[in-house]
Amino acid sequence: MITQAGQNINTKNQPLNEIPVRYVKGVGPARAEILARLDIATVEDLLYHFPRRYEDRSHFNSINKVKVGDYATIKGEVLTVGLRRGKPRFGRGKVLALFKMAVGDDTGVIYAVWFNQPYMQKMFRSGDKVVLYGKVERYKDIQITNPEFEIIKDDGEPRSSMEERDTELIHTGRIVPIYPLTEGISQRGMRSVIKNLLDRYLDGAEEFLPAGLRARNNLPELKEALFNIHFPRSEGLRKTAYERIVFDEFFALQAALAQRKARIKGSDDGVAHKVGGELLESFKEVIPFKLTGAQAKAIADIEKDMASTKPMNRLLEGDVGSGKTIVAAYALVLTVSNGYQGVLMAPTEILAQQHFMNLNKLLSPLGINIVILTNSVVDEARDEAKRLIEEGRANIVIGTHALIQEGVKFKDLGLAAIDEQHKFGVDQRVQLKQKGFNPDMLFMTATPIPRTLAMTLYGDLDLSILDEMPKGRIPPKAYWVGEQRREGIYKFIAQEVAAGSQAFIVYPLIEKGKKEDLKAAADMYEKFKKEVFPQFKVGLVHGRLDSEEKERVMADFKSGKAQILVSTTVIEVGIDNPNVSVMLVENPERFGLSQLHQLRGRIGRGNQRSYCILLSDTESEEAKKRLKALIGTTSGFNIAEEDLQLRGPGQFFGTRQHGLPELRYANLVANVKQLEAARKEAFDLVRGDPELKAPGHRKIREIIRRKFSGKTELKA
Ligand code: ADP
Ligand code: MG
Repeated sequence: MITQAGQNINTKNQPLNEIPVRYVKGVGPARAEILARLDIATVEDLLYHFPRRYEDRSHFNSINKVKVGDYATIKGEVLTVGLRRGKPRFGRGKVLALFKMAVGDDTGVIYAVWFNQPYMQKMFRSGDKVVLYGKVERYKDIQITNPEFEIIKDDGEPRSSMEERDTELIHTGRIVPIYPLTEGISQRGMRSVIKNLLDRYLDGAEEFLPAGLRARNNLPELKEALFNIHFPRSEGLRKTAYERIVFDEFFALQAALAQRKARIKGSDDGVAHKVGGELLESFKEVIPFKLTGAQAKAIADIEKDMASTKPMNRLLEGDVGSGKTIVAAYALVLTVSNGYQGVLMAPTEILAQQHFMNLNKLLSPLGINIVILTNSVVDEARDEAKRLIEEGRANIVIGTHALIQEGVKFKDLGLAAIDEQHKFGVDQRVQLKQKGFNPDMLFMTATPIPRTLAMTLYGDLDLSILDEMPKGRIPPKAYWVGEQRREGIYKFIAQEVAAGSQAFIVYPLIEKGKKEDLKAAADMYEKFKKEVFPQFKVGLVHGRLDSEEKERVMADFKSGKAQILVSTTVIEVGIDNPNVSVMLVENPERFGLSQLHQLRGRIGRGNQRSYCILLSDTESEEAKKRLKALIGTTSGFNIAEEDLQLRGPGQFFGTRQHGLPELRYANLVANVKQLEAARKEAFDLVRGDPELKAPGHRKIREIIRRKFSGKTELKA
């Protein structure tokens, strides 16, 4: 809308997100600048600036019943008002002004006192009906200092600003909103401004959820919800209002995910793999164990996806040791048997090496050519690997980030799998996909993401869960012991190793390459080698070693040449040595719960009893909770759920890189029900109207566009 300066613009029919907030009564240019600091620019921003908490001031107390020290809400009549000027404090500074007012009800008299706010006297006249709220004190009289107050308008003309003289109580006498503020605006000011906003603009808040949907989910109308979020008419109404807001937030996210999923699944130009054939049969024969039911089910899911012309987009989720690799291997062989190439990308050199070794052993006898490409493959070897990949002579390629660098070209990529996919950024996953023409994608993760989080993060992926451990596994026993047991633990390790097992000793390396952390591991390594375990061969591995050295140490450990491996957390990811029976974790309080669980998953892979020992004297209550939770359960799903509770969704994954969408109002832990309901409704809606073209869906489409366009995590 074009307006000329000074003209009173008619904002009535404009969308709320296009009306500058300064047009709200009581805001103006100066306050608009203050509000900008709270990221409030438009009327809509202010409408969605919700209270951070509430105070129930809806019950009035009779003056003779108030207790010193309690907060009370009093309704009465102004009896006397008076301003006194005291002596300047300490002989200088401002004159101390004290405004005191007596308020009475049928039961008694109480005083309201303000210091250095002489203008207060202009607010009140004796005879005014007022409501006061604040902490009751006894000085000389029973009094409230700096009370929240409100004047109940009588029939006469208002004498002071309108803002202070509304008929409806907003500061007292009700459930009162307490807002997040910034310097320059008070609770009172914010409340008044928001009340003005509601009076004038709430009508413009357009309902976007279909009535049927609202009815099914017991959701109030948007306008009503927004009103009750700010000025709840009752606690019950506040609650349902909040439920609506949470639903809305999940709904928008899930609708966006549903659309993205529909878009991916909508393309029909993926590789349609033919399932069956000689190669696949011979592969099944060389698998050295019987698949678990969960593995068989996941493979069936994958076969179905890969057979379709629609590209696969599947997440394989399974606890450490649940056997994801063989499932991925199946998918890789399936694509090879159809004449395509398969790629498996892992987050670390060590893990890539391990996959390469294992798969090569299994698959090369079948005539499958496997190539590894990491940053330690250099010079001619690298050129050769790249050539094999480009010419299609490499059937399966295993590697790290090196795979997605420029210059790595595939001849015909049919399947791309990413192990520990949460260690990669969204862009990296996309880059790998782009190495082929719409290849099938298989994402693997050992972070057993709780269902709620999986729905939020990966709502556009299909999910296969390995919730069954291979038979014969004995879950490791976990213990938490204090420093006084250190010597005993060393003895125990020596005993196990003497009996033919191996041991991990793990040090936290919280910040990459942080010197003290590395030093702790290196110093202890020396000590173990020379003093504690001189009779055994001890190895040391950490991120600072060059990859050749790393490989050598790991190979020594895997082959049993070294019996004890001291390491920083590089072993966290995927290292597989079934002969390890003890893991000692130093400073376990510095690890997150899920991380500890991942570590523990490195042992208990063979058929012997294994032990994970957490050595810590931590005083931190939070850390104690984590350690207790770890020793309390062996289920990764329980751990993840617990971790989510302990740390909250934001920190669960550590970084934004994992694409956890920002949720302003909803809480993944507390609002699971709404998430599930919103997801169902959103997916149903998008199924019926994938582009959200129906007139009734226009607003939803617009919300999604505004919220998510440009966000990589939701880009197709
Ligand atoms: P993760 O899911 O952590 O990647 P892996 O694929 O590395 O697990 O498997 C862990 C170990 O279990 C490997 O040594 C693997 O050979 C073995 N394994 C996998 N599936 C089975 C099974 N069905 N029966 C017995 N052992 C299995
Ligand atoms: Mg694995």
